[in-house]
Amino acid sequence: MSTQQCNNKDIDWITREEFEEMVETFIQRKTPKFQAKALITAETVQDVLLVLKEKNSQVRTPSFRFWARKRFLSRKDHRGNWILCAREEHGNIGKPVCPKEELFDVITEAHINSNHRGRDPTYDWVKKSRSYVPKELCDMLVKRCTHCTIKRKTKESTDSRVEKPITTTRFMTILKMTLVDNRQQVRSRKPFILHVKDVYSHYQWAYALENKNVESVIPALYRLFCEFGTPSILSNTCQFTQDMINSMVERWPNMRLIHSKMKKDDIASQDSAFALQLTQWLQVNRTNLDFWPDCLFEFCCHLNTSTNSETGKVPHDIVFGKTVPQEDVEHIWASILSKDSHVMSDQSENIIIKLVTDKN
Ligand SMILES: [Zn+2]
Repeated sequence: MSTQQCNNKDIDWITREEFEEMVETFIQRKTPKFQAKALITAETVQDVLLVLKEKNSQVRTPSFRFWARKRFLSRKDHRGNWILCAREEHGNIGKPVCPKEELFDVITEAHINSNHRGRDPTYDWVKKSRSYVPKELCDMLVKRCTHCTIKRKTKESTDSRVEKPITTTRFMTILKMTLVDNRQQVRSRKPFILHVKDVYSHYQWAYALENKNVESVIPALYRLFCEFGTPSILSNTCQFTQDMINSMVERWPNMRLIHSKMKKDDIASQDSAFALQLTQWLQVNRTNLDFWPDCLFEFCCHLNTSTNSETGKVPHDIVFGKTVPQEDVEHIWASILSKDSHVMSDQSENIIIKLVTDKN
């Protein structure tokens, strides 16, 4: 009782009456057949407990008793009272059943514990302690919550002012390319970098180029597209020249192009982000900066196999799937070793020599 009173004091975002109204709407949405069973009442809980306690119980109907035994289990709490719990897979005992009468306390408490973070976090909190609470009710509560409504409205108005980033759900849908002029940083035969990034996975490629012309850029893109496929959309963070557009349209007629007109300062800051990362990495990993173009592949490999700060994921894993765990490799290697048509190399236990029998 004390928790309930404490709860009521904290809740100024929905009243008990509004909640009851909401529960009624939830029940009305069900087909007539399921309305009676949509939520479990305290009375039903008591009847189910009676069924579970007595083997030859005559409570309600045979089908009710069958349902009760199939769906529930009971246990004693620390005060010795019987409580009804969900029966889970393999006969495991689940969380205590939440009757209709306690839904208000249980869901509002979960919503507070989730810090008003929406339906799924609220439902996750519910599931920590109770069973038989419909997720739909958590959704309805979040929509009725005045705190959440205000939060949503503020977010919407902020979002509409900021340009939304392009979203995609697949690798190679949109590639972003940038040409970085690195002449000030390095003296090299190839002072330009063609930097390409997949928008979805953040997988990156970089090529050292002699210049920014079609003759340099197109072959590099050609190599990339042959290996990974042609993207649906290629977006250039700076303007394509007309002859670049012509060559692209000719080679990849189905690919769509976006080129942006950017203010000069923006281009410079974008370029330097990648160039700066590269320079820092080179300073740590390479002593001689004269050979920096050779290191571009290795640098991209480093980026692609590290957790990306924006996505929290490793780009390589998104594109190719997770690397096989070491123990699986050991297992595969052991099964190869178990076959007898080989000899071990003297050099290392990681090398075997296969004995090939001449079929002639
Ligand atoms: Zn809320």
